[in-house]
Amino acid sequence: MFDYLIVGAGFAGSVLAERLATRSNKKVLIIDKRSHIAGNAFDHYNEEGILVHKYGPHIFHTNSKDVFDYLSQFTDWRSYEHRVLASVDGQLVPIPINLDTINKLYGLNLTSFELEDWFESVAEQVPVVRTSEDVVVSKVGRELYEKFFRNYTRKQWGMDPSELDKSVTSRVPTRTNRDNRYFTDTYQAMPLNGFTAMFEKMLAHPNIKIMLNTDYKEIVDVIPFKEMIFTGPVDEYFDYQFGKLPYRSLDFKHETLNTETFLPTAVVNYPNEHAYTRITEFKYLTGQKHPKTSVVYEYPQADGDPYYPVPRPENAELYNKYKKLADQTPNVHFVGRLATYKYYNMDQVVAQALTLYKKLTEKTEEDKSI
Ligand code: FAD
Ligand code: UDP
Repeated sequence: MFDYLIVGAGFAGSVLAERLATRSNKKVLIIDKRSHIAGNAFDHYNEEGILVHKYGPHIFHTNSKDVFDYLSQFTDWRSYEHRVLASVDGQLVPIPINLDTINKLYGLNLTSFELEDWFESVAEQVPVVRTSEDVVVSKVGRELYEKFFRNYTRKQWGMDPSELDKSVTSRVPTRTNRDNRYFTDTYQAMPLNGFTAMFEKMLAHPNIKIMLNTDYKEIVDVIPFKEMIFTGPVDEYFDYQFGKLPYRSLDFKHETLNTETFLPTAVVNYPNEHAYTRITEFKYLTGQKHPKTSVVYEYPQADGDPYYPVPRPENAELYNKYKKLADQTPNVHFVGRLATYKYYNMDQVVAQALTLYKKLTEKTEEDKSI
């Protein structure tokens, strides 16, 4: 008899498996329908020996010391600050939009102070900022919105920014200084030997059994367990009884090129040209030295593996119906990006899993004292 059946071996499932096994001496079975652990953060050496991220670029960044310290038990780190260029009007310019972006794009020589006034002169008045269009036009005006955000977002999400919650484009700030980092978090680093190696360490404990290539439905009635932790799509768990929750998918086209470097920086975004949104060159992220280089192109899709919950009010409403059911389902705990329908980064999922672990152990303490 297992104490826990954990469905999904990504960050959510693996953090809980590790905590429950090592801290609470629980017997855990963690399963995944894929052929590997690490969920969407899975990386591996390709046929040419280059470390690549199978499900697109994963860059670790967090402001949480707790999350960073927790993961540091399972990996050493390589300091890495992510930088991205956008292909706009035939030029490659920094995104997030900053002082250099504007000066290069418009052939200007503004200072930071002057840029503040410049943004103010082009910004649109938006009484209530609700959508992903509002966020951008209220800061940098319509022209820059159309050059950098409108078409990228339409490609990525299959809908106009005006139909998406403000939280989506709010992920990308606007700057008046020359800081060209994609993230400004306190901790920005990549696991030294990759994500999968970090997950292997997390799950290497005699109390943890791993079963791959297995959908939980195949074993749920056969293998006895006391409680379940579910990290797959919440609507799938409840047989889509209120209808399907929309998730956006991607098709990843990986290529290895016979050249040492291909891009001028780790990622180039293509807001306006091409069917893909961005190209990533992995050696920038991993620091690997190799005479060849590997890149991935991301083509957004409606169908396919569920990668992104789609933040908009009607979807939040539908999710809330599933959440109510989830809250009423005894001995099953829902956690992670798919099971709680949240556009979370890796660090947020780790924090969410650590919080659930605390709740589960407090519950056990309460049970003991009754
Ligand atoms: P997942 O990693 O999706 O794990 C869930 C697992 O459950 C999967 O392995 C799945 O196979 C399994 N599963 C589902 N249903 C079943 C079933 N029925 N039976 C058995 N197993 C099942 N975050 C960052 O912090 N930085 C980044 O740069 C970044 N880049 C990203 C780029 C892309 C293209 C994507 C899609 C995401 C990115 N993220 C990034 C987000 C990051 O991937 C997630 O926050 C994190 O991986 C979520 O972990 P999770 O455990 O919730 O879900
Ligand atoms: N975005 C955009 N243009 C860009 C970069 C981002 O329009 O050059 C918008 C787009 O809607 C995207 C969102 O901002 O989905 C969040 O971008 P981020 O890079 O955080 O996306 P992720 O890495 O999660 O795919």
